[in-house]
Amino acid sequence: MLAAINDLYGSLREGFKGDLLRPGSPGYEHSRAIWNGMVAKRPGLIACCTDAADIQAAVRAAFDAKILTAVRCGGHSLAGFSTCDGGLVIDLSQMRHVTVNAHARRATFAGGCLLGSVDAATQKAGLVFPSGVVSHTGASGLILGGGTGWLTRRFGLSCDNVEAFTLVTADGGNVRCNARENADLYWALRGGGGNFGVVAEFEVKLHPLRAVTLVEGLTAEPHIRRLLEYWREFMADAPIDLKWNIDLRIAPQNEQLPRQLCARPVASSSLVWTGDPEAGRRYLRQAISLCHPDSVNHRVVSFLRLQTMADSCFPHGQRYYTKSGYFTQVDDDTIGRLLEGLGSIPSGGTQIELAYLGGAAAQVSASETAFGDRSAPFILNLLADWSEPSCDATHMGWVRALFSQLRPAMKPGVYVNFMSGDEADRVPEAYQERWDRLVAIKTHYDPYNFFCLNQNVPPRKPCSEQVAEASQG
Ligand SMILES: Cc1cc2nc3c(=O)[nH]c(=O)nc-3n(C[C@H](O)[C@H](O)[C@H](O)COP(=O)(O)OP(=O)(O)OC[C@H]3O[C@@H](n4cnc5c(N)ncnc54)[C@H](O)[C@@H]3O)c2cc1C
Repeated sequence: MLAAINDLYGSLREGFKGDLLRPGSPGYEHSRAIWNGMVAKRPGLIACCTDAADIQAAVRAAFDAKILTAVRCGGHSLAGFSTCDGGLVIDLSQMRHVTVNAHARRATFAGGCLLGSVDAATQKAGLVFPSGVVSHTGASGLILGGGTGWLTRRFGLSCDNVEAFTLVTADGGNVRCNARENADLYWALRGGGGNFGVVAEFEVKLHPLRAVTLVEGLTAEPHIRRLLEYWREFMADAPIDLKWNIDLRIAPQNEQLPRQLCARPVASSSLVWTGDPEAGRRYLRQAISLCHPDSVNHRVVSFLRLQTMADSCFPHGQRYYTKSGYFTQVDDDTIGRLLEGLGSIPSGGTQIELAYLGGAAAQVSASETAFGDRSAPFILNLLADWSEPSCDATHMGWVRALFSQLRPAMKPGVYVNFMSGDEADRVPEAYQERWDRLVAIKTHYDPYNFFCLNQNVPPRKPCSEQVAEASQG
């Protein structure tokens, strides 16, 4: 691969406008790192693109030379797909411009934007694009997989708010798609991940919103069962203005917390009300009735504050491992298993994340986007977070053991953006009856699986290969 990557570097040097970083180049060590410290790879070349023409040049040269290629926006792939050993990384971090048309409530932004870049620009006009909850996450990876966050119940998934994509396909072409042009591709990109090309630009709908009511509170261990029972009933009829997430974890040792909660297993509730604060008061009051009163914090926060408040909880470079799934209902046995899981949680950063979707996201039919079935409202994510490689087995073992206990009660399906790198066998499960259509679109746009570093939808093999395999027996 070394000779090939040297040739690639040589061919790109002419005409490529961005930086080309090789091992030893200034900036290479910083640029090669991705968010999940479990994945420490050394690409042969990092091509930092400045525009679609740079992306085209990189894709064409790497495709011709058959070089393993990763695509990176924010580098937050839990699975570590945005890097590789020895190959090429197409890095979009120099492509972060955002244009807002306040009057039309529309924005256009580049494929390297972080959520924070989009929020900062849209909030200048008092508008929002519904996305995720940590501002240093890349917008591209998040949207292409679906995109859930505080505003999902009110305005739908991120991908539901994209009106058009412009992307560079495996043959180096520049393709635009929307509901009328290349509609199959438009369908596939809303949930199908990075399988189809490098998105250089998104055109999205925006919504007016400047501030929300935020209530946070902790529930002590003896009351968590009752809280979860209450939550599952309450959310079924809750207004779409309300998002209520619950994390089961160990509370920090913190002077501001009631003493009996410090360093103890707790349920941490975060409630966001996007409507009129007065109208929300009664729902919020009911919802936090099972929180310890001295732990409750109720305030109105700006949208930008909301979007950045969790940033420091998920630092770059830690070791992370995750498994995720959906429930149609969280039954009593499942609650029992979650509580046992909390009892054996291996570290302070590790948590069991529970969210309730529904609302606007559930109003889009399963066939309308590749993201698919939104009928199971409960989404669970087991997220282990630790720093020492010597603790890998403990943390990964905890996630795997708890997941296998919970799995029988889950609805088949998984959100691709919450999957680890060792779950390739679950990708068809993520798409289910949409799989064949995705494979057909992949085969059309990327028949050689050039874009393979993702939750991969492999193309159908060319007929000649099928014949050769059949004749071998
Ligand atoms: C701290 C943290 C918080 C998160 N919070 C949320 C959340 O609130 N809601 C949610 O839904 N998800 C969340 N996620 C999951 C997140 O959606 C995925 O990790 C997502 O892939 C991150 O996108 P990225 O651009 O940063 O990732 P990258 O690692 O850069 O890329 C991820 C995948 O997308 C592909 N890709 C990236 N850019 C492009 C492009 N322009 N064109 C084509 N393919 C591309 C890559 O090749 C790779 O396969 C979070 C993840 C982390 C680490």
